[in-house]
Amino acid sequence: MTSPTPSYSRRRDLRSQRRNVAPKSARRKNRPWQTIIATAAATLLAAPFALPAFADSAEPDAIDVIRVLEQAQTVSINADATGVAITREGYTVTTPPPPPPLVPAPQALTGGYASTADTFTNNPASPVQWPFTQGVPISDGFGYRSAPCAGCSSKHQGIDMNPGRGTPIQIIADGVVSEIGNPSGELGVYAIIDHVIDGERISSLYAHMLAGSLRVNVGDQVRVTDIVGQVGSTGMSTGAHLHFGIMRDRAFIDPYPYMKEKVGS
Ligand SMILES: [Zn+2]
Repeated sequence: MTSPTPSYSRRRDLRSQRRNVAPKSARRKNRPWQTIIATAAATLLAAPFALPAFADSAEPDAIDVIRVLEQAQTVSINADATGVAITREGYTVTTPPPPPPLVPAPQALTGGYASTADTFTNNPASPVQWPFTQGVPISDGFGYRSAPCAGCSSKHQGIDMNPGRGTPIQIIADGVVSEIGNPSGELGVYAIIDHVIDGERISSLYAHMLAGSLRVNVGDQVRVTDIVGQVGSTGMSTGAHLHFGIMRDRAFIDPYPYMKEKVGS
């Protein structure tokens, strides 16, 4: 069972009691409903939401006005209010990730060599051979460059070859060891071997070798493909590589075209 629906006048009286005002029945003479409508309209002007339409009646019923008034009461703002505290949800500012570094594609370096392993191949039948039995990447060529480290030379007197740490280094031709060095110097563990190749006085330099890997002494007679040492990073070096130099009459020349010509591959 449901409670009997109170009459309109009864509901108006109940609403009036909740709002501590005299029952509408007692106020009707003093407050004609047109005045109530005017009051409602004034209040609604301050209501920050869409107003319910007054349906299909040209003259809204007082019940509708009260209903709107009650709704408006729930959102009316005291005129004395000095401000409304607004709480925003926290947010986080993140810096966009940096763009990926530009990775230079393998390309020809000064002198025609490349930072790829196929920039040369060795010829095991030649009296002059590359320092490695297979082609290896060449990371830095001969000539002027921006120094790769504090104390590194900006005039690069050789080529940097990158077969990996510990790779055995072979002597390029028959000859005599003329100079060796310890790790304390710029070249780290190194050896210089003098040759006579096609009637020219040629010297080969192997630098930055692994500490303890040097296998020759000054005055040693050596043969092509003898092992001089292993690839390391001693001296002024930023990573394991062979700094390979060629001198003609004790002056450094670009090893790459010279070796390409003499090895033939
Ligand atoms: Zn170098």
